[in-house]
Amino acid sequence: MKCPYCQQDMQEGYIGIGKQDICWTPKGKKQSWIVNRAKPYQKMLAKMSWIHGSSIKVYRCPDCCIEVINENDL
Ligand SMILES: [Zn+2]
Repeated sequence: MKCPYCQQDMQEGYIGIGKQDICWTPKGKKQSWIVNRAKPYQKMLAKMSWIHGSSIKVYRCPDCCIEVINENDL
């Protein structure tokens, strides 16, 4: 993936957390606290796995210090 700011190739990596889902939540809205059940206004990016936790693929540009998540690539 090319960085949208400087057009260089981005580094592929991931962001992982423990025993929680990873959801995008609109500003001002509350997160769901029920595992694997996002609220209707949330976008589920990764469901929690009891064995592996949860993680999402994230591209990073070290020069611009930005991270990009592509929902079609999850
Ligand atoms: Zn960049």
